[in-house]
Amino acid sequence: MATTGANAVENKDFNFHVDRFADIEVLRYEVPEYSRLSLDQKKMLYYLSQAAQMGRDIIWDQNGRYNLQIRQLLEKIYTKYDGDRNSKDFKAFEKYLKQVWFGNGIHHHYSTDKFQPEFSQAFFEEQVGKLGNCCLPLQPGQTREQMLSVLVPVIFDPSVMAKRVNQDGTQDVIATSANNLYGDGVTQAEVEAYYNSIKKADDPTPISYGLNSRVVKENGKIKEQHYSLNGVYGPAISQIIYWLDMAKNVAENDAQRAYITKLIDYYITGDLRLFDEYSILWAEDTKSDIDFVNGFIESYGDPLGMTGAWESYVNFRNGKSSARTETISSNAQWFEDNSPVDKRFKKDKVKGVSAKVITAAMLAGDAFPATAIGINLPNSNWIRAQHGSKSVTLENITEAYEMASHGNGFNEEFVIDAPTRKIMEDYLYITDMLHTDLHECLGHASGQLLPGVDPDALKEHGSTLEEARADLFALYYLADPKLLELGILDNPEAYKAEYYKYLLNGLMTQLNRIEPGKDVEEAHMRNRQLIARWILENGRKKGKGGKDVVELTKKGGKTFVKVNDYPKMRELIGTLLAEVQRIKSEGDYKGGNELVQKYAVKVDPKLHKEVLSRYSKLDIPPYRGFINPVYTPVVNEAGEITDIEISYPENYVGQMLRLSREYSPLTGKCGKTAKVCGAK
Ligand code: ZN
Repeated sequence: MATTGANAVENKDFNFHVDRFADIEVLRYEVPEYSRLSLDQKKMLYYLSQAAQMGRDIIWDQNGRYNLQIRQLLEKIYTKYDGDRNSKDFKAFEKYLKQVWFGNGIHHHYSTDKFQPEFSQAFFEEQVGKLGNCCLPLQPGQTREQMLSVLVPVIFDPSVMAKRVNQDGTQDVIATSANNLYGDGVTQAEVEAYYNSIKKADDPTPISYGLNSRVVKENGKIKEQHYSLNGVYGPAISQIIYWLDMAKNVAENDAQRAYITKLIDYYITGDLRLFDEYSILWAEDTKSDIDFVNGFIESYGDPLGMTGAWESYVNFRNGKSSARTETISSNAQWFEDNSPVDKRFKKDKVKGVSAKVITAAMLAGDAFPATAIGINLPNSNWIRAQHGSKSVTLENITEAYEMASHGNGFNEEFVIDAPTRKIMEDYLYITDMLHTDLHECLGHASGQLLPGVDPDALKEHGSTLEEARADLFALYYLADPKLLELGILDNPEAYKAEYYKYLLNGLMTQLNRIEPGKDVEEAHMRNRQLIARWILENGRKKGKGGKDVVELTKKGGKTFVKVNDYPKMRELIGTLLAEVQRIKSEGDYKGGNELVQKYAVKVDPKLHKEVLSRYSKLDIPPYRGFINPVYTPVVNEAGEITDIEISYPENYVGQMLRLSREYSPLTGKCGKTAKVCGAK
């Protein structure tokens, strides 16, 4: 078992740094142990990677209806530009394009605010003017002037499509969100009424309503348009199906072949019952080395939390590190039984929580360029309860973050003293990874809803509270002697590294991601602030000797997080875990809303300003993401694939332009082989 930050980087000279612009750093990740895969496994990985990249256009269009047209236009201007590439306008244009690529559209991937171009409208119009009509991505029947009259305000006017996902519950969150998951004129009340009318009461195995559809209004009637082969996004879905079919032919075993077949059937029909059947088969396959996610999965991009953003992860098992998560998951029932949650809200029998550590080999759709470091699927509550779920930790991604952060000065600036820095140096890598394992494998999988409680009852706070539940579960057990007994940690103090970092992040440093004057909005950030602020406020005078459990203290004019009583902090985490689980199990929207409003949303403007200024001196980008490796088939004279080579030759711009050239089934062009275009 790994204890301290023992990294398994294969190549000591591997260059993790790729590009830096705006608030973003782009990294590349290594794929260790790729060479140990068999030829069939490499082929499978390759076909699944093709299926992954073929979905790229889908997420762009889901994120906003003009995104694909804008991307095509910006890329044309970028590649055809014959002026001074060092001019102020062009530099600003390039920065904007890089931001748009990173956001899979014109909104920030995290804040969901619209990017503001720093080049002039005149510069933009001049460049469009230089493009011949054949170079313009005009809609059918659209003139150049009509295109500009639509796109100019969308790009330049801050009030037009200002936010991709608006979670402010005092407004109509659908009408005020700029995503493309709902059609023109559709209101929140209409969507809620529509789903209420089709949801069956007391259905023990409900489909994930709305997961794969666009909701529109036709002749005054609300209607779903499904994402499927013959429906919305058909041309992209047909490519995905083609490559899934190729992968199916080299599947590792029958179980894997069965779920790929089911996934294809679902893509063909758009039938969510088939998606559930696929999810069950997928969750139950814990034997295969190669694994993947490909579909409409996470619903953070929908203010109502229903429609899934298209994403794909392709990966293979990291055998060595999986021993750690297998130990945790084989003790899942012990963790469930011993949690501080009310017995009524616990699972009597935790169903097959399987956990593994994986090596990511391809990130795509909503998981690219910004990605998660842990995933637990399927999301459907009843499938999780009856069939279990699969939880993964993406170790090579965590490793890339870690390697790229060395010596950036963060700990020296923000961590209160040398002993705390020391415990973080020694134990933050492993406790961070364990936090992800516990969050995904046990946290999300723990607890149960009381009979009859609507899984969507917490509405716009559902994601925040679900993340809080999983984080609290992980934090609570990080400090448990059980982890030492299981041989996963070797020091009873190790948990303090993660506790300190968690508070520091939730109370202070994550504010680096928020613009002055704005609230905390993103679900994971709200969750972290909720937990940290709740502990701060509810631990006043409750620590050893009547001290605060946690305090914000000043040193040399700067604010620091100080933890006076770690064991008491763990107790508070247990208390809050019990409360958040109660809210979830009872579907207590009012209780959840109070918790979120009181602790998770508002920002102390003075502290915020201080954090921003201290951060700016360090030049640490608030957000990071990745480009992917390149997989190239080696073909012999007989036309057979003899190997699939992996390489890391590209920079950020090069990769983005290539993806647009080779994987754009929704914008007219498609795969590089004409043969593929005609398939299916
Ligand atoms: Zn989570």
